[in-house]
Amino acid sequence: MNIQNVMVIGAGQMGGGIAQVCAQAGFNVTLNDVKEESYAKGIAVIEKNLARNVEKQRMTEDEKQAVLGRITKSLDINDAKNVDIVIEAAVENMDIKKSIFKQLDEIAPSHTILATNTSSLPITEIAAATKRPEHVIGMHYMNPVPVMKLVEIIRGLSTSDDVYQAVEEMTNKLGKVPVEVNDYPGFVANRVLMPMINEAIFTLQEGVATKEAIDEVMKLGMNHPMGPLQLADFIGLDTCLYILETLQEGYGDPKYRPCALLRKYVNAGWLGKKSGRGFYSYS
Ligand code: NAD
Repeated sequence: MNIQNVMVIGAGQMGGGIAQVCAQAGFNVTLNDVKEESYAKGIAVIEKNLARNVEKQRMTEDEKQAVLGRITKSLDINDAKNVDIVIEAAVENMDIKKSIFKQLDEIAPSHTILATNTSSLPITEIAAATKRPEHVIGMHYMNPVPVMKLVEIIRGLSTSDDVYQAVEEMTNKLGKVPVEVNDYPGFVANRVLMPMINEAIFTLQEGVATKEAIDEVMKLGMNHPMGPLQLADFIGLDTCLYILETLQEGYGDPKYRPCALLRKYVNAGWLGKKSGRGFYSYS
């Protein structure tokens, strides 16, 4: 299966990063969003990242222009008719993802792989919205995409070996490290990470320590590069809440119940770095 043309759905913090690394690796990328301003914001971040690479002499100005030249703007999902793989990175919401996959199934050629960057939602359930579940797979990148090496590759119940191998090969071409995971809520990364973040929020809510102190303990004590509250802000507090709800529902286990303080911040629109305010303020 030869992948050359890639469509990324969602030009947010993950979709933009995925589009950038794909274009840097030589793939033709169609970057799609429902909102013009979200596309503009996404491409501006890519341009800024590439300009920093030029400044640091990691790439030439000509290479930067070539990378940008491989990214095509799309505001229409029908552009999926020309691609070999779609990597969906829209919001973490099952109804939205199912609706996107149902449309993609009707639009994209029969060979097209439909991948999702979901953090936690069941691949098998997303695949069931299509008539090609063997072509549906999880491709879970880490944030920030241009920096982080890991991609969890998640097999749905029906994902074919050919599709798995094609996605693994593509991940290697991106300079990333694929790790095979089976389809259970939260996969590996978020099943382990989110309970830690949630516990840090409970710790804050109960007044055990200040947010700075909690982050400092985890950074200096556990050698984590970033404290859990700062990391939650970077991931997006809405995304953290969705993932915890998915874990709680998927396993039916109250140990994953989201902390009330997290829900309160999300309801207030404090979504972390992307909205300018979460546990910390960002100007
Ligand atoms: P985000 O809010 O930054 O971006 C989402 C983008 O999708 C927005 O630009 C929005 O306009 C667009 N969008 C919404 N509905 C759409 C549709 N129907 N068609 C096209 N575009 C649409 O979110 P994000 O942090 O980039 O997360 C995207 C996905 O990646 C989620 O599934 C999330 O769980 C997953 N993920 C996030 C992280 C993280 O650290 N933030 C890490 C790994 C995976």
